[in-house]
This record gives sequence, C-alpha cells and structure tokens, in this order.
Amino acid sequence: DPVADPSRDLLAQRAAASPAATAVVDADDGGEWTYAHLDDRASARAAAAEAVADTDLDGARVGLLLGTRPAVADLYFALGRLGAGAVALNVDLPTERLRSQAERADIDLLVCEGATEDRASAVAPPGTPVASVDDPAADEVAPLAPGDPAAVPPSARPLDAERVVMFTSGTSGEPKGVRLTRRNLIASAVGSANRLGVEPGDRWLVCLPTYHMGGLAPIVRSTLYGTTTVVQREFAAEATARVLAEFDITAVSLVPTMLTRLLDAGWTPADSLRFVLLGGAPATRELVERCAERGVPACPTYGMTETASQIATATPAEAREYTDTVGRPLEPTTVTLVADDGTPLDAGESGELVVSGPTVAPGYLDGDQTAAAFDDLGFHTGDLGYADGDGRLWVVGRVDDAIVTGGENVHPARVADALRAVEGVADAAVVGLPDEEWGERVAALVVPDESESETASLTSERVRDAVGDRLAAFAVPKTVGFTDEIPRTHSGTVDRETVCERLAAVRDGA
Ligand code: ATP
Ligand code: MG
Repeated sequence: DPVADPSRDLLAQRAAASPAATAVVDADDGGEWTYAHLDDRASARAAAAEAVADTDLDGARVGLLLGTRPAVADLYFALGRLGAGAVALNVDLPTERLRSQAERADIDLLVCEGATEDRASAVAPPGTPVASVDDPAADEVAPLAPGDPAAVPPSARPLDAERVVMFTSGTSGEPKGVRLTRRNLIASAVGSANRLGVEPGDRWLVCLPTYHMGGLAPIVRSTLYGTTTVVQREFAAEATARVLAEFDITAVSLVPTMLTRLLDAGWTPADSLRFVLLGGAPATRELVERCAERGVPACPTYGMTETASQIATATPAEAREYTDTVGRPLEPTTVTLVADDGTPLDAGESGELVVSGPTVAPGYLDGDQTAAAFDDLGFHTGDLGYADGDGRLWVVGRVDDAIVTGGENVHPARVADALRAVEGVADAAVVGLPDEEWGERVAALVVPDESESETASLTSERVRDAVGDRLAAFAVPKTVGFTDEIPRTHSGTVDRETVCERLAAVRDGA
C-alpha cells in the first residue's frame, strides 16, 4: 500500500492518495498540475538536478533564485526527494547580498529561471553549477529539463533532516539563514489546519514571495491536506482581487499593507473565502474594523521564519472581541513569556515571547547566532508581548528597541505600561535618548488625560514620583515631555523617530 508506506515522501503519498486532485494552479497563465503531475515533475527535476550537479545531492544545498511560481513546488519536492536542502534566495535583494547568502549557505547548485538567469552566475560562488527551469538563453546555464521520472524514486528523509534554508526579513540587521527541517514544516501545516480547518475544495492563494515562509508554507500545507495552491507571481491590488474571485480562492495569506490596498481598491470578498491569514506585522485596530465592515474574514496571525511561519492565530470573532490580539498558539506550540533574567511570567505581565515545539528550527546557519537565540526553553523571538489568562497573545514590540542606560536594559513598552497606569496619564511612549553620562537615558512622552490638561497639574516631577514605586530607579524616565497625542506610524506602532525629536527639545526636569 503506497499510501501507508513510510519510506515515501509527503508528495508521493499525496499523489498515491489523490492523484487527480489539483495540486498547483498558475494564476498568471492558468496552467494546472494534478498531484500525479506534480509528483512526476518533482522526480524529473530531481533527476535533472543531479545530472547538472554531476554528483549525488544527498545532504547538499541547492540555491533557488526563483520568483513565486509553480516550479518552486516542483523544486521543493524534488530536492526533498534527493535529500538536499532548498536555499530560498530573495530575488528582490541586490546581487552582492545574494552572493554572500549563497556563500554562507555553501550551496552546491544554483537553480534560476529565465528572469534571473542574467544574475545567476554572479550569485553562484565560483565553481558552482547553475541550471535554469526555463529554456536557458545563456550558454553557461544548463537546462533543468524533465529527465526520466523513474530515475529518482520517492523516498522520505529523516524527520530532522534539513529541508529548507530560509532567510529572515532583516528588520533588525542582516537577514539570518534559518535551517528548517521536515518536522518543522509538517508540524506547522498540522497546527495551521487545526486552527483554520480544512475543506475539500480549499484553494489557497499564494501572492507572497515563496522565498519567505508565508509564501512557501501554503504549498506544504496544501500537499499535506490534498487541497490546491494557486500561485500568483506578484501581488497587485486589482489583479489580486480578480484572481481571488476568478479562481474561487478560499484562503489567502497577506501582510497588512496588502490587505489595506485591496480594501482601498474596493475589493469585497466572495462568500467562498474562508479566511485571510494576516501576518508579518501588527494588524491595526482600524484594519480589523474595516475587515469586519466589509465582510473580510481576517485572522490576525503571529509568526516568524524561525518557527516555520504561523504560530498563533486569532479567529475573526476573537480579533474583534480582543483588540490587538494575535490569538492563541497553534497546537502543539507553546509560548512562554519570560523576564529579562529568563524567569517565566504570569498572565498580564510583559516579557519576551519564547516559542517551543516541533515547528521551532534547530538553528541558524551561523552557530553563534544559534547559541544566542535558541536554548532549552525554546526560540527567543526578540519580540515583547503578554498573554491573558486564556493564553491569548499580544505582541507589543521588539526587544531590540530596548534602552541601555548605565549598562542596564530598559524595555520602553514596560515603562510605557507603568506610565499609563499613573493617574492622570492617558497615553505614553518611551524611548532612549543619547546621553553623555549614561550612554542612553530613558525619556517619556506623556499624554495627560482631559481633566489634567485643564488643570495642568501633571508635572514631570509627579509622573516620575508615581512610577518610582513600580520601576527600578534606572528605568524611571529622566526626561518627561508632554503632548496631545503620541505620534504613530501607519501600521499603528509608535513612531519612535518623531518621539525622539520631540523629546530631544525637552530639558531634563522640565
Ligand atoms: P530579522 O529577524 O532579520 O530582524 P524579521 O524578524 O522581521 O527580521 P521575519 O521572520 O520575516 O523576519 O518576521 C518575523 C517577525 O515579524 C516577528 O518576530 C515579529 O517581530 C514580526 N511579526 C510577525 N507577525 C506579527 C504580528 N502579527 N504582530 C506583530 N509583529 C509581528
Ligand atoms: Mg526576526
């Protein structure tokens, strides 16, 4: 029974169970592949890749310089079949950065497409063979044309074998290469199904780049579930709205800016749309409200590359009821909130989110980076948040925004929480300002509530006294300024730059 044969990989088992089901649809040209086809294509690409590399690719790494297209699915499964890891290169980065990523990942073969062929030889480290999934124009690029499908039989690799190297978005610096295993990806797909459900006719639209987890994950999920992935090369509000309608899309992954653009373009969802998985950045209250008005089933979600995508997701009803929540962790992920010293926190207390469970990657390409972020407790996300008594999570910011004053770390979000608890304070934002003596000093911009504005009795002295009991001395703001409203960015986060500018003008003790 090939379905139950544990030596066969995920795609082979899916192709045996539902060969005629549609696996992948190309929204740009209407092309469709059944699971039986996808299985053949994967074997063929695998055979061609080994022929080009002229070596056994078991344990090798293969760079993918590909845009978002169905060939990514062929290659993902082809490489898994060979026991090779796919190194997902971000085609939107400059060539030199990609070259450095290819070197750091130590790739043995680079796969490009027509659109990236020109850059491929500059991205591939010296001596690395290059192959194209399209008809290659350049002489030095070998074709990755279908070979003999039987040449590479489907075979499952150990659960902890590396499957993908995926780079983070680089918000806090140079993107980090995350090593994800088969276990990570399958566990993530299971957790996602448990929260969002699976319907037999599901068609998941991928218009996020497949070189990030949000684009690749739906391909793995659909293959596990036996449902369909629809791939659109590039998001564009009007074109994507058309694809959503014409291809009867039931699920789509979007970042908040994309969803905002869709709504601005007048998009209203068809009844068939089950959910919009909305992640990558905080979903603002305003966006969640607009979705409710427009009948968009938006599910705010929290995730990251190091956890193979989605780890907590709110249902549309939860998102409306519990403002700003990202929902509860997915089965079987555990999220622990910890203080600076690593001690676990109670419900309601803010700290760093630490994630553990089978979706957590074994680490980065770089061992030092791994040692700094992964330990027995799990992956230290670098994000600050808190949970309620029912385990719902809120993500409030990044640890990197922490202030170092006189060698002590102070978290702006916690000081701001303390300030907001002071009688007479309506809102507050906290930043670090350069300081000759302390390196940085804690500075707060405070919005007095209405009664205080009238009497002007809320002084910086009073604010500092009031938080003195709640905060360590070094965390008490040395500078306090007043304003009518905290400046915030379009995504709802504090506009730290403007806060710093306003506070730089305030004299200490003023
Ligand atoms: P780098 O790790 O290189 O700094 P990055 O963290 O932005 O980049 P990703 O792994 O793509 O790279 O993004 C994951 C991060 O995005 C999370 O750790 C978190 O900071 C942020 N994020 C994702 N979803 C949400 C959300 N719903 N609310 C708030 N922040 C989110
Ligand atoms: Mg990160």
